[in-house]
Amino acid sequence: MASTLVQSPDIQAYLDRIAGLDGSGGDSRTKAILRRLVSDLFSTIDEFDISAEEFWSALHFLQQAAPEFGLIAPGLGFDHFLDIRMDLADKAAGVEGGTPRTIEGPLYVPGAPLEKGRARLDDGTDTGEVLLMRGVVRGADGQPIAGAVVDVWHANTKGAYSTFDPSQSPYNNRRRIETAADGSYAFRSVVPSGYAVPPNGSTESLLKAVGRHGNRPAHIHFFVSAPGYRHLTTQINIDGDPFLHDDFAFATHDELIPQVVRQEEPEAIRAEQLNGPFSQIDFDFTLLPAALADEEQLMARTRALAQAQ
Ligand code: FE
Repeated sequence: MASTLVQSPDIQAYLDRIAGLDGSGGDSRTKAILRRLVSDLFSTIDEFDISAEEFWSALHFLQQAAPEFGLIAPGLGFDHFLDIRMDLADKAAGVEGGTPRTIEGPLYVPGAPLEKGRARLDDGTDTGEVLLMRGVVRGADGQPIAGAVVDVWHANTKGAYSTFDPSQSPYNNRRRIETAADGSYAFRSVVPSGYAVPPNGSTESLLKAVGRHGNRPAHIHFFVSAPGYRHLTTQINIDGDPFLHDDFAFATHDELIPQVVRQEEPEAIRAEQLNGPFSQIDFDFTLLPAALADEEQLMARTRALAQAQ
């Protein structure tokens, strides 16, 4: 028996997308069987009220057997399904507002250098376009939060992440930025590229079997935290990416696509002491008050180990 949530029209349409039924490619029998399998697993998660932590623990077990389960899970929509369930639980509890959550993905590394107010994320070796991003971390009451930590990580212009790509310097494109007294954060980096699941791997072959691709649009990951506030796990997308609304991990959220302003004026370039045109993103984060101390903490999950610097 499918759970009431899984039977809802939104989740039924989501299952069609996951199983590639909204496209003509792939094998129809495989699509039908995959849809049933994912639907039954979603029902199991919902009926047993399996928490995100319990899911990550089970996923870790599978990743021990085959590391690509870390990509198969988001590709089959499980990570986003957990977000849907947490959003519904919030709604039922009357919790509203705040920057929307979206999936963490498997590529976070703890322990990035902590800097105050402003940071440079890239090590200067990537010749892609400079990105300047800035904003304010606020509470739901609109008041800026000083001393919040914006933990940011993203891929380089080849779509690869430091640590997982050993050719990059430690913690390249990874920093923790503590907000200034006015709640502001700012960083300089390089506009990231999107990326795809490893070619010829098991995730790619599974997705191909149902006529899907394994591409993610360019994005930047964030954890945002402050004492007394709910820990936020989110991402922003880089507007204009061809896969913006066709993410294999289903993480795109309309409220998380800030405008990218391309600055070409010599005056603007000089003011930032740069040598050429750059992209600028302004984005504020809004944190909700934590009802329980637990909500302030990053969700438990087995992650990559901190890197020696
Ligand atoms: Fe990512």
